[in-house]
Amino acid sequence: MKATFLEELRSRDLHSLAEYSRNCPAETARAAVAKGRADSLEDLAALISPAAEAELEGMARISASITSKYFGRAMRLFAPLYVGNECVNNCVYCGFARRHDIERRTLTVPEVGRELSAIRALGFRSVLLVAGENPKLVSSGYMEEIIRLARSIMPSVSIEIAPSRVADYKKYVGAGCEGLTVFQETYDEKVYPTLHPSGPKSVFWWRLGTPERGAEAGMRKLGLGPLLGVNEWRFEILAVALHAKFLFKRAWRSQISVSLPRMRPAASGYIPAPGNIPTDRQTVQIICALRMFLPRLAIVVSTRESRKFRDGVMGLGVTQMSAFSSTKPGGYADRADSGEQFHIDDSRTPEEFAAALRARGLDPVWKDYDASFGLGG
Ligand code: SF4
Repeated sequence: MKATFLEELRSRDLHSLAEYSRNCPAETARAAVAKGRADSLEDLAALISPAAEAELEGMARISASITSKYFGRAMRLFAPLYVGNECVNNCVYCGFARRHDIERRTLTVPEVGRELSAIRALGFRSVLLVAGENPKLVSSGYMEEIIRLARSIMPSVSIEIAPSRVADYKKYVGAGCEGLTVFQETYDEKVYPTLHPSGPKSVFWWRLGTPERGAEAGMRKLGLGPLLGVNEWRFEILAVALHAKFLFKRAWRSQISVSLPRMRPAASGYIPAPGNIPTDRQTVQIICALRMFLPRLAIVVSTRESRKFRDGVMGLGVTQMSAFSSTKPGGYADRADSGEQFHIDDSRTPEEFAAALRARGLDPVWKDYDASFGLGG
């Protein structure tokens, strides 16, 4: 294993492996499924191949059984809280990008408190604080303040904000933050700058090293993900799987999760190339293949996905889901429907969603972390 994931990624030829996957013979795919697990990236490439799509029912059975062995019947639920849509970046696919003339807003600390109370009243005990890249949030102490506030209301607090330094992450961990999510969007170093033409996010290696810095600062949970739609998806799945495997070894104290967001319509007007977004069936295949490659990997599916799809993947390999999300700052206390980063597709209430989980024999778990912080459930 290399010293950093950047070195690890650069040492691999994942494009050739993705090509191998696309052309994998049916007998190789069948043999990979019959093994019941993926011991290598080559096995994973066979499992996500077009040839393995015909083996999906068998993969689903294996994946469900591994998931039940390592995670039981639990489905952990969380709510994302968008605290601000001010952003200095210009990601070509995002409705919050700097070039868009939209109403910009960062919630005040009391407004964040109102949102947290609304989220708690919905039943959630695990929150993900999300913000665009706004350097003032870090320099002003705002992030620490809202993390502390969130921890006074919620047992489990994670962040999805601009990549920061270890010193900043240490402050957030000290304020009660336990998890850090950062989507690499694409692991292709050549494609990356075409999607992120300006702003701090244009620096590929700084973003790529974020989970390692989070682990160094003591983050207990590290979340990763490609943005499916911006590049050839088999390459991205192989890369995020490699990243997760690297972190299982390097950050062995942390829980590692992967999200598989597929692009949804947003105000950006970005149109993904046909074929870059996996179909529903291919996404199920990805989930099962990742489960067979990394049995302890937490797999997250959000409300970007349709109700039908989310119901279909319950119990197959997914271990965490958001519900009743709002992607608009201030959107929980005031559920008006504008200024969103992207549209959500499953708008069931938390109770309706929990009932759907129970109907499939799963236990909705509202609180992701039972630490001895003395907070009620
Ligand atoms: S994806 Fe994130 S960093 Fe990029 S423009 Fe949107 S909010 Fe900003």
